[in-house]
Amino acid sequence: MISNYLELLYSNCKILTKDRSYNREKFVAISNEHIQTVIKENGLASESDLIDLLISKPFASLKSLLDRSKFLYIFYLVNSLNEYKQEDKDFDNLGRSKYENSVMKDVGIENNLVLQLIKDSINENEILKQLFKINSHKSYFYLSHDIDSVYGSFMQDGLWAVKHMRIDVLLRLFYNAVIARPDWLNFDLIMKTESEYDFRSTFYWLVNRGKIDARQTNSDYSITSKKIIDSIDSVKKNGFENGLHKSISTDSFKNELSKMPVNVVGNRYHYLKFQLPNTYNKIEEAGLQLDASLGFAEHYGFRNGYGYPFHPYSMVTNKAYSFLEVPLNIMDGTFQAYMKIPVEKTADTIINFLEKNNNDTLLSVLWHNTFFTNYKYKGYLNEYKKILKYLYDMNFQNINQTAIINDFSWKIK
Ligand SMILES: [Zn+2]
Repeated sequence: MISNYLELLYSNCKILTKDRSYNREKFVAISNEHIQTVIKENGLASESDLIDLLISKPFASLKSLLDRSKFLYIFYLVNSLNEYKQEDKDFDNLGRSKYENSVMKDVGIENNLVLQLIKDSINENEILKQLFKINSHKSYFYLSHDIDSVYGSFMQDGLWAVKHMRIDVLLRLFYNAVIARPDWLNFDLIMKTESEYDFRSTFYWLVNRGKIDARQTNSDYSITSKKIIDSIDSVKKNGFENGLHKSISTDSFKNELSKMPVNVVGNRYHYLKFQLPNTYNKIEEAGLQLDASLGFAEHYGFRNGYGYPFHPYSMVTNKAYSFLEVPLNIMDGTFQAYMKIPVEKTADTIINFLEKNNNDTLLSVLWHNTFFTNYKYKGYLNEYKKILKYLYDMNFQNINQTAIINDFSWKIK
């Protein structure tokens, strides 16, 4: 039931404190009465008809209904219902939902709109105002690294060296690739950079390797090689965390998880390639506790308009899934490859977004290991350091996967 789901969303929302008189039945009654009114007004027979309507109609024709119903608008956005039934034109060449055609383009991807709707719904209703107090808090942030390539530096940075006539760089890369450590086997550098601020992050690993087609490639390393197993161990030993980076493959999650050298609780899809709602069902079936994929490659911001981890609503069981979705807000490649922001303006653009959200969110940041070398991705390490310094200076709270699961999972009583 939508009203039960909303009760969980509100009662677990970090900015809301429940009054001593709080009683979940009271909230469910208020929200359900509202939902039932909407159902009647629209000549529908049941709640499942209402959900069908939300999934099948384009946003433009739902807008006036959603504007009149904050509860429904919140339910619609949090669960990305606009992505459930899309046409070919709404997907890019990898089959990913496009930001350009999305609802977020209309409502503003930089706005934590759902949180605003939650606040407004409380301020407008005398009973809800008694049930909840609104308290602001300093934002949290979550750092992560998708490990797509470890050995590609010789080819990709090498090409850069050739173009820039840097024989010295070429020779050094060649030496590193053959004899010493490949330049993108740089997890120590990543951990050292973050440890300077006492921050910890998560590394997402691919278990399948090789080229898929002209556009898609899995990893260029073997998950069973000694160098990689040692790296995964050292991540763990240093208090950092590991996760699965689901590959482009017909392998099930179960298969891929069994290939990981350590047990993991979280996943992120390679290329952020997934479609709703199938993906949510697969994550649930796999028994994962966390997924960190919900972001657009093309644009930073809030893909579902909500700034906190949440449990999506399952159309199969009509209740919340047991895993936590942690939206992805900021990715290096977005600025470099998609938005084509000059490297030296990257940190400023990101900090500008962080500044607008320095309260009442959890912001998730992805910086690939390849963006830590100074050849093809020259300057990005420096931009990353500026971002870390900003987060440190502004007292954002660093949080890892385990703490997200502990602090943000809904208490489903
Ligand atoms: Zn990837």
